Amino acid sequence: MSIISRLPRNDQTNAWSTILPKRTPHTALAKDIKADWLVIGGGYAGLAAARQLALNRPDDSIALVEAGVCGENASGRNSGFIIDLPHTTSSSLDQLEGSHRYLRLARAATVALEKNVSDFGIQCDWSRDGKYHAAVTPAGSQAMLDPYATELTALNEPFEWVEKDTLTAKLGTRHFHRALCTPGCVLMNPAALTRGLAGTLPENISIYENSPVMAMNYANGMCATTQGGSITAPRMILAANGFSEQFGHGKNTFVHLALCASLTRPLTPDEQANFGVDKPWGLTPANGFGGITMRYTNDRRILIRQDIKVAMGQDFKSQKTDTIGRSHKALMDARFPKLRAVSFESSWVGYVCMSRNCASTFGEVSPNIWMATCQNGIGVTKGTISGMLIADKACGVLNPLIKDMEALGTPTPLPPRPLVEVGARATIGWEVWKNRAVVHSVTLASERALVSIAPHPAAREGGEQ
Ligand SMILES: Cc1cc2nc3c(=O)[nH]c(=O)nc-3n(C[C@H](O)[C@H](O)[C@H](O)COP(=O)(O)OP(=O)(O)OC[C@H]3O[C@@H](n4cnc5c(N)ncnc54)[C@H](O)[C@@H]3O)c2cc1C
Repeated sequence: MSIISRLPRNDQTNAWSTILPKRTPHTALAKDIKADWLVIGGGYAGLAAARQLALNRPDDSIALVEAGVCGENASGRNSGFIIDLPHTTSSSLDQLEGSHRYLRLARAATVALEKNVSDFGIQCDWSRDGKYHAAVTPAGSQAMLDPYATELTALNEPFEWVEKDTLTAKLGTRHFHRALCTPGCVLMNPAALTRGLAGTLPENISIYENSPVMAMNYANGMCATTQGGSITAPRMILAANGFSEQFGHGKNTFVHLALCASLTRPLTPDEQANFGVDKPWGLTPANGFGGITMRYTNDRRILIRQDIKVAMGQDFKSQKTDTIGRSHKALMDARFPKLRAVSFESSWVGYVCMSRNCASTFGEVSPNIWMATCQNGIGVTKGTISGMLIADKACGVLNPLIKDMEALGTPTPLPPRPLVEVGARATIGWEVWKNRAVVHSVTLASERALVSIAPHPAAREGGEQ
């Protein structure tokens, strides 16, 4: 029996969902039921797993249980980049096969998401806008973008250099020296996408929201108990992100990180005219430790995603959103002085988990328990594909992508908790300081923080956006 002592909370600060029309969640679990499959977690991984199970086994009953509401978790709080490419800039070309594997997985996830968006008419501002990978200084461009360009050339992936003057016109800021533009990235509203996916599941899936699992009994199959009832099933897919360790699996594997973001109100027509930028865009920094992820959205808002904190308790109460908002506003004003009057709708944090070697937990972790967890900050594609493939694996479907997924490796155990926290904080601090000259602003970290605690990444992929 596992008693679940740490539960996800919704602090109601996620601007991506507050700007959407009100939604009625699926009803909470209110009785004891039986199902053929139990899926825990209503993020990209759990939703994709449940959908794929339903397609593989149309006559089976599938129960998906979600602690909160779909669209408020990390899946609904991210920056909305669906990224097709690995974007580390320090990996050597001998890792090309790893990159090809990663590309196959990320692209399969994007195609699957795009099909759902189109088949079910999910309104989530889905746009294949591509993204800019930008450096602030010539030194940053040389150190980070040039090797990345070499890597993309070796991968035979298209990209375009965008120099300062053109970049200034496209982004509405003179802040960046140069960027590398790649066409495959999709931008969207993540809360709208997650809600849309949850609202269009096949009929043999029953989804229960606002139903945190408080205890798991593994004595006779799986029995998940919530406040209102229980679900008994012979098989389970665990897709509860960093909370999966509460279910007795993945212990000593995850470092929990809080990522901070803010979204403005829409620019007025006058502000848009003054801003002078005609197309939405998304930008990731050349160096994950020193830059800011930004977007100009379809509905003419600015997103700022900056700062990362080690947050082993995954506890919203310890994150001060007003402080985050002030710091993001200062960064925004420095980059977009014409938009000083534009305020934030909201600032928020979301939690991601990462493993020491950047690998995900993917596979059968106990008889009849499969896990798809730890997407290392690029969970839109990786969560989606790991959910789909874990369902195939559990059903014995021979999908060749399972081999690609497994080749990304398995997480290596972490040292004991105080050491993990101290190590991760020190590494993030050191990386921020080291890169201060290249990128001008002290900001977010990426999984490379963890790579450098244990410099042997089995998986080669992008940092969180
Ligand atoms: C600010 C921010 C920006 C980011 N930007 C990007 C980006 O642009 N692109 C990208 O690819 N990734 C990005 N990420 C990362 C990405 O959002 C995550 O990796 C991804 O959402 C993880 O999906 P998941 O399904 O594994 O987990 P989650 O979305 O966290 O879903 C897990 C679910 O399990 C549920 N759960 C947990 N415990 C229980 C329980 N006891 N009972 C029932 N349910 C439970 C939770 O409520 C949750 O809904 C970002 C993350 C953040 C926070």
